[in-house]
Amino acid sequence: MAIRIFRCEHCDHKMRLGGDCCGWCNEYKKPYQRMYFYVVPLVLILFTAPNFLSL
Ligand SMILES: [Zn+2]
Repeated sequence: MAIRIFRCEHCDHKMRLGGDCCGWCNEYKKPYQRMYFYVVPLVLILFTAPNFLSL
């Protein structure tokens, strides 16, 4: 089962969250439609938060 939140702006296909392209027309996704856009900041927060808390 795949999580499909975003629609392709090119062909209106419902895209998976993972991957860099539309599964239907292979158009490149917008940055905000990618998993990294949410995962990378979350990981950075998780790694930096303990440093602030232990002061
Ligand atoms: Zn598409």
